[in-house]
Amino acid sequence: MTPAVELRGVSVHFGRTVALHDLSLAVAPGETLALLGPSGSGKSTALKAVAGFLRPTAGRVLLAGRDVTDEPPNRRGLGVVVQSYALFPHMTVADNVAFGLRARRVPRRAVAERVAEVLDLVGMAGFRDRYPRQLSGGQQQRVAIARALAVRPAVLLLDEPLSALDAALREEMVAELLRLRAELPDTAVVHVTHDQSEALALADRIAVMRDARLVEVGPAAELYHRPAESFTAAFLGASNLLPVDVEDAGAVRLGGLRLAASSAGLPSGAAVALGVRPHRVGVRPYTGSGLAARVLAVQWRGTGYRLDLELELGHRLRAETPDVAGLAVGDRVEVSIPDGCPLVRVA
Ligand code: ADP
Repeated sequence: MTPAVELRGVSVHFGRTVALHDLSLAVAPGETLALLGPSGSGKSTALKAVAGFLRPTAGRVLLAGRDVTDEPPNRRGLGVVVQSYALFPHMTVADNVAFGLRARRVPRRAVAERVAEVLDLVGMAGFRDRYPRQLSGGQQQRVAIARALAVRPAVLLLDEPLSALDAALREEMVAELLRLRAELPDTAVVHVTHDQSEALALADRIAVMRDARLVEVGPAAELYHRPAESFTAAFLGASNLLPVDVEDAGAVRLGGLRLAASSAGLPSGAAVALGVRPHRVGVRPYTGSGLAARVLAVQWRGTGYRLDLELELGHRLRAETPDVAGLAVGDRVEVSIPDGCPLVRVA
C-alpha cells in the first residue's frame, strides 16, 4: 500500500545546527505514528518538514506517493494542530473551524454542514458562537482539532497537542483522541510528543528520536517490551541498564545471578546491558543469598514506593514496590530480577 506520509532521507540544518539527520519513515493510511523523544531531538522539525513549514536541506517528503517537497503548506491538504491551539481570537468557534473551508471556496451550505459535523465530532457542538477567550484550554484544543479535521485531511499532524493542558485534562483528551481515531479509521496521524504514556496510549507505532536522529521505530508494545536500544529502554519505561556478561544462548550473568534474557536481533559482539524496569525488581531483607544491595533512598509515591539501591557489585538500581515492609535507608537487602528482561545495545 502507498504510505500516506513518507520521509526519504530528510535532513534539516539551521546554519551549523543539525536539527534532523537523514530521517526515513513511512506512515500507512489509518495508522498513528508517534514521534517520541526528549526536547530538542528533532520531532517538531520532522513534523514541520511534512507540513511544509520548512524546506529540508536534503531528502524528499511524499504524501500518498506524491512528492510535495517543493509545495507550500496550503497545497499539501494536511490537518495541523499545534500545542498553543493558534485559534484566531477575533473569530467565533464556527468561523475558526470554517476558515480553511472558506479559503478553499467550499460552497456556503457545505461549509455550514461540515462545521456542524466536526464540532459534533469533538463534542463542541454547543459552543459555535463563542470566542476562543470564552473557552478553557481543553475546549480550545478541541476546536483546533475540529478546524484541522474540517478539510477532511488524509493526514493529521499533531505537535504536542496536549502539553499545554493540565494532567487531568490531558488524560481526558487522550481518551478523546482515541475515540476520534476510531471515528476516522482512514486518517493517518503523526503525533509529536515527549510523553511516553501519551505515545503508548495513542500510537500504533512509535519512532524514538534522539539528537536529531531516529533511534528505532516499531509497534508500541514491541518497543516497550523488547527495545533494542538502551536509549529506548531508558526513555520508554525508565529501565535500569545493568552491565551483564553474556553467556550462551540468551543467558546473562550479573554477579552470582544467572538470568535468561530476551535478545531479539542484537548483533553478536555489540556492547549490551540488561534493561530492567523498576517494577520488576524484587526487594526483600537480606537472607544471605542473591544479589546484595544497600538502600540509598526511599520515596513514597502514593501507589507504592520508589527505592534507590546500590548493588554491592557497584551499580545503582531503582526499584518500585507496592510495599517496603519496614525497609529503611541504610538497610542491607536482597535484590531479585526476573528472567526475560531485554538485552539492549549500549550506544
Ligand atoms: P523537538 O521537537 O524534539 O523538541 P526540534 O525539532 O524543535 O526538537 O529542534 C531540534 C533542534 O533544532 C534543536 O536543537 C533546536 O534548537 C534546533 N532548531 C529548531 N528550530 C530551529 C530554528 N528555527 N533555528 C535554529 N535552530 C532550530
